[in-house]
Amino acid sequence: MRDLRSYEPDIQPAEFRLADNTNAFGAAPSALEVIRRIQQADVVRYPTSYSAALRDAIGDYVGVSSEEIIVGCGSDDVLDCAFRTFAEPGERLALMDPTFVMARVFALTNGLTPVSVALLPDHDVDGHGMLATGARIAYLCSPNNPTGNRLSVVEVERVLTDFPGLVIADEAYAEYSGESLCQRAPVHGRLLVLRTFSKAFGLAGLRVGYGVGAAALIAELEKVRGPYKVSSLGEQAALMALRHDIPWMRETVAQTLTLRDRFVTALGDAGFAPFLSDANFVLLAVDNGPTTAQRLQASGVAVRPFVGLTGIGDAVRVTIGPWAAMERVIEALGRGP
Ligand code: PMP
Repeated sequence: MRDLRSYEPDIQPAEFRLADNTNAFGAAPSALEVIRRIQQADVVRYPTSYSAALRDAIGDYVGVSSEEIIVGCGSDDVLDCAFRTFAEPGERLALMDPTFVMARVFALTNGLTPVSVALLPDHDVDGHGMLATGARIAYLCSPNNPTGNRLSVVEVERVLTDFPGLVIADEAYAEYSGESLCQRAPVHGRLLVLRTFSKAFGLAGLRVGYGVGAAALIAELEKVRGPYKVSSLGEQAALMALRHDIPWMRETVAQTLTLRDRFVTALGDAGFAPFLSDANFVLLAVDNGPTTAQRLQASGVAVRPFVGLTGIGDAVRVTIGPWAAMERVIEALGRGP
């Protein structure tokens, strides 16, 4: 614990905030309406223990039954719980490198030993490498943060078929890639898929995420997670978003993908080589991540810098936003190193 630092991404205020992969086109409108209409009782009382109504709605959305779903205070919460539930301290967690930084942090805070497996040159997961770790849990992220690509069926199947322990598939950006293992999870038995309302539904501030897996696996997770992890407001907001705002979500996702492809093409035309993305952000290798991010900051855009990513080096990760923001990025990058 002494060697760990708390997670504080250094995001400065900026005209355009493209640093945390949230929805640059706003929040699900029905969720905002729930917050506007909040009653005293919603605040005075505890929420429901296990968010039954929300789980039913999520079940309809992803095509599984409600006992195959656990909700949490963001998908982070479910990830953290899964490490505590399904591995003993001292056991290993196999994770792709680079990937979502919190996977490693939660492994350490739960006493697990993270074992990094470098991505293949095309940023796919190295299935054989994951299997060779002898780990108890394997963490996959598709589309992967920060590289942006989804993983190939061939490599994922290798892990799903041959990995003997729990496989976690983090699908925080699945609405953007249009691919999901949710329906596979209950059938597989040892697969836990993580999803969230923080990205495509625009509700990161409310902290609602969920996991999908076999009912027996979810029941164990739920004991460890404990009750009341999703607030009354979060539950109501996510529920209304699913009831009324799926068309809104699909529309903002479509808009994001159009802008992303236009951004990638324009970057290419300006002489840059961004990595192809299946998510709502794009990673661009640069000579110096922090100084590039500072230059963009001075132009009114906050992005996320990375230093020394395995196989990539320094980079900046840019969330897709309105075209005016993307133009500003290209312009500032074009002004040289
Ligand atoms: N997984 C990945 C891959 C992410 O990028 C993020 C957010 N940065 C999360 C999980 C966390 O999501 P949540 O807000 O649901 O905790």
